[in-house]
Amino acid sequence: MPNGPLKVLVADDDPAIRRLLYHLLRARGYRVTLAPDGQAALDAALADCPDILITDWNMPILDGEQLCRQIRAASLPHYVYIVMLTAQSQSADLVRGLDAGADEFLAKPVQSGELFARFQAGVRVVQLEKNLRLLSERDPLTGALNRRTFLAQCEREWSRAQRYAQPLSCVLLDIDFFKKINDQFGHPAGDAALVATARLLASQSRPCDYVCRYGGEEFLALLPQTDEAGARQWADRIRLALESPSLDYHGKALSFTASFGVASNTADALSVEQIVDRADQALLVAKQSGRNRVVAFSGLQDDTLDPASLSQSNNPLAGVAARDIMSTLVLCLREQDTIAQAAALL
Ligand code: GH3
Ligand code: MG
Ligand code: MG
Repeated sequence: MPNGPLKVLVADDDPAIRRLLYHLLRARGYRVTLAPDGQAALDAALADCPDILITDWNMPILDGEQLCRQIRAASLPHYVYIVMLTAQSQSADLVRGLDAGADEFLAKPVQSGELFARFQAGVRVVQLEKNLRLLSERDPLTGALNRRTFLAQCEREWSRAQRYAQPLSCVLLDIDFFKKINDQFGHPAGDAALVATARLLASQSRPCDYVCRYGGEEFLALLPQTDEAGARQWADRIRLALESPSLDYHGKALSFTASFGVASNTADALSVEQIVDRADQALLVAKQSGRNRVVAFSGLQDDTLDPASLSQSNNPLAGVAARDIMSTLVLCLREQDTIAQAAALL
């Protein structure tokens, strides 16, 4: 969620009131957009959702009451606090305004003291709602999107990409031997590595990209308007940045690498879940073929990286390094044991 000045949309057909509110609000540091009628205000709100809407009651095309109802019915990214400007405050008018979805009323002519006193309540509501949304949408440790919010965005981006025939890619990242960081340096050091990874991913992303904490030490990025080659390049940049330099954790150097699986919405992909699944398959191959590398799903068609040849169902140990599955032997071979007994033991 972008921070910064609150956005206020002012809808009034009287240019003098628009000008007055513009100057008052700008002087207090608000970002202000002006609309001369209800329809223009609705269009502006749908294009760039304001935090606070100040609307006149009587306006051409769409009046204040209709505008309120439309705003409340629209699927907007966050709550809009609505202040209605009223010439008189008849109880029946207030009831109609409240029923349409107004939060607050402000009498005309506008007095700056009253405007900002009433604004305080609005600002508190807007901030509270932003904080709650942050908590419900993001992973508390890393600040990356949580899985539920991310998957909802994925569906939206998938539909958009299909409609406009645009590329869309997924990159799944898993930190290599992360357990060792926890074991060697402690859990808080592991946490610091996760925070650093999330920060790196955020710094390398465009505003239209989405990054989520997919699991313990797994992150999933969705890159709209990016094909597989672009996503590979992006992942490789992240891989190189993670590889060096090491992270300073209270004077100790934490160094770690990550493996990446990349997949895109190629013609045969049927859903965004399928791309994520393909990125997961590619990640598995990246792990099995040595870690600290980027593997794209399309590359799995090669003989060397054929997923079928590495898949669990065909051969559960294909491509798995001995160190990944080794545990201390509690039985030992004796000199007189046969080869068959040795094979059975292994
Ligand atoms: P691989 O290279 O195969 O991915 O090995 P790995 O050790 O990274 O993977 P494994 O799945 O064996 O271990 C993941 C570890 O991540 C185990 C778990 O304790 C740790 N982990 C999960 N969530 C957190 C967290 O929030 N903080 C910390 N510090 N550790 C976490
Ligand atoms: Mg993992
Ligand atoms: Mg791992």
